[in-house]
Amino acid sequence: MSPFVRIEKLAKIKTQKWDIEDSAELYGIRNWSAGYFDINQQGEVTIKPYGVKGGPAISVATIIQEIKERGYNMPVLLRIENILDSQISLLHHCFHDAIVQLGYKGEYRGVFPIKVNQQQQVVEEIADFGKSFHHGLEVGSKAELIAAVSQVKSRKACLICNGYKDEEFINLGLHAMRLGYNCIFVLEMPGELDTILECAKTLNVVPQIGVRVKLSTKATTGHWAESGGERSSFGLTSAQIIDVVDTLKANNMLDCLKLLHYHLGSQIPNIRDIRSAVMEAARIYAGLVQEGAAMGYIDLGGGLAVDYDGSHTNYVSSRNYSLNEYCTDVVESVMTIMDEQNTPHPHIVTESGRATVAYYSILLFNILDVSLIEIGNLPEKLPEDTPEPIVNLKEALENVNIRSLQECYNDALYYYDEVRQLFVTGRATLRQRTLAERYYWAIMRSIAEEKDKLKTVPKELHEINSKLADIYYCNFSVFQSLPDSWAIDQVFPIMPVHRLNEYPDRRGILSDMTCDSDGRINNFIDTQGMKNTLELHSLKNGEEYYLGAFLVGAYQETLGDLHNLLGDTNVVSIRVQEDGTYEFVREISGDSISDILAYVEYEPRRILENIRHNAERAVRNKTITPAERFSIMQAFENGMRGYTYFER
Ligand SMILES: *Cc1c(COP(=O)(O)O)cnc(C)c1O
Repeated sequence: MSPFVRIEKLAKIKTQKWDIEDSAELYGIRNWSAGYFDINQQGEVTIKPYGVKGGPAISVATIIQEIKERGYNMPVLLRIENILDSQISLLHHCFHDAIVQLGYKGEYRGVFPIKVNQQQQVVEEIADFGKSFHHGLEVGSKAELIAAVSQVKSRKACLICNGYKDEEFINLGLHAMRLGYNCIFVLEMPGELDTILECAKTLNVVPQIGVRVKLSTKATTGHWAESGGERSSFGLTSAQIIDVVDTLKANNMLDCLKLLHYHLGSQIPNIRDIRSAVMEAARIYAGLVQEGAAMGYIDLGGGLAVDYDGSHTNYVSSRNYSLNEYCTDVVESVMTIMDEQNTPHPHIVTESGRATVAYYSILLFNILDVSLIEIGNLPEKLPEDTPEPIVNLKEALENVNIRSLQECYNDALYYYDEVRQLFVTGRATLRQRTLAERYYWAIMRSIAEEKDKLKTVPKELHEINSKLADIYYCNFSVFQSLPDSWAIDQVFPIMPVHRLNEYPDRRGILSDMTCDSDGRINNFIDTQGMKNTLELHSLKNGEEYYLGAFLVGAYQETLGDLHNLLGDTNVVSIRVQEDGTYEFVREISGDSISDILAYVEYEPRRILENIRHNAERAVRNKTITPAERFSIMQAFENGMRGYTYFER
């Protein structure tokens, strides 16, 4: 449950004078953007790729225009390469500062866990830019290992092999070592050790081994709070670690044990959990050194959280610490324990995925349509034969006042239901039922207005705003592009990217193109916690309305699925120069309909053959002419090449 009181704020009625500062506050952009996004005087969201350091600000609306001129349709995943670079250098600089300040003797070695965003251009950019920092990669499978070996540029960078490893995985890692990579096998289960020792012997390579420990510390809050601790499915207990030490000792290979690893879970909102975990791990590390292991690295895994809601709290979608605090706390905790145990300071490894890539992608999409609740004019007087419950609804509407809200609400539900009963049993007409429906919504709207005057709003009445909300139909698929929004109720900052100097006069929820009842978003970040509706602008005739879902660079791209056969979106990457000019460095067309059908095992050629066969039969039956057959077939052939999303 959210620690916030779920009270929807009284909408600021400021239609006359609404400016970008009001929008900035309403959407909280300066709270969650980490300095990378803001709003310009024209009311458009801007990208500031150099973050808090200042530098140019590029309008997202302008970028959309330019993307469209190049022939790409919405939705588009926009990546800003500089933001990725900024995040990597920020991480290294913060650790470096903490190390210098505290007089720590080891170094910081960051690695990027490929699973967080496996796209080639992402991993390549991390490897290229991260080279000077010796930023490495973390892999959890053979495929990821092969991808990593093809990308890592620095020989000092760590190549951490997690995940269950078969012989082939281990051999590939050993070959990588012979090519000069700093490859470390982390034991996820005791059985892996024998395979590693055998393979190493056969290939005559000295392996570097790490152990993943099950800590007794676990996260107290966050999505993954239940998955840590002694019962977590990954890692070795301390007894199993001691067995590993004994086996290595017996083989005279204790100097191969180089690293201690743990992973508490992703998105750890509370710094106290991070601190407790690192303290426990540091003690185990010191214990292993005392056992005679070579060691040298302590690897804290991931967990560095992203403040998606901008609240700076220990709520699941936030974090109650800054990057500086994280780095200082980690270095200080490790150092304290090492000094106490007279143990040399190890290199500190973290596997931050989410915090490295979240900021750098924005999902941009347009609105296709809006469905509003329209009440229309209600009659002054009801006809004589009007069924009793409708008369009661009319009275309830006339009675709505600040003292009778709950009562009127109950009446509205009750009488509207009665009318529906009359209708199904044939005692009310379709027109009468429609009239009842309009009264029902009129009562709801009237209650919604009055309830905002109350100091405390009865619980049941909170839902009214979302009942009355408009539905904005969006050109994207939640399942494909924001899977965590559907799977684990993860919130992402979502807001219009233009018209921010206009008062947002509507309250809406977002529905995607899948028409699936789960394909919607009705939970939004708010300065007060969460809200069920988002402030939006009325659509203007002949003008597109664009929204952006921000901070979507981590986990969303490869977890997405093909629900309703909506495929990968177009992807455009830009790089901004210091003078504010920018170039489109990469463009990837999204899936075509034929790509998508092939994923689910259709053969595009067979599809067209079948359709052609049917068309020919229609020609023979004289329902179409041969010339019509030609244009129909052309339409299908073009369709197969087209984008899976709505195109205007
Ligand atoms: C998923 C994972 C990570 C990444 O965690 P973030 O919270 O995204 O930084 C790191 N290490 C391991 C072992 C993981 O499974």
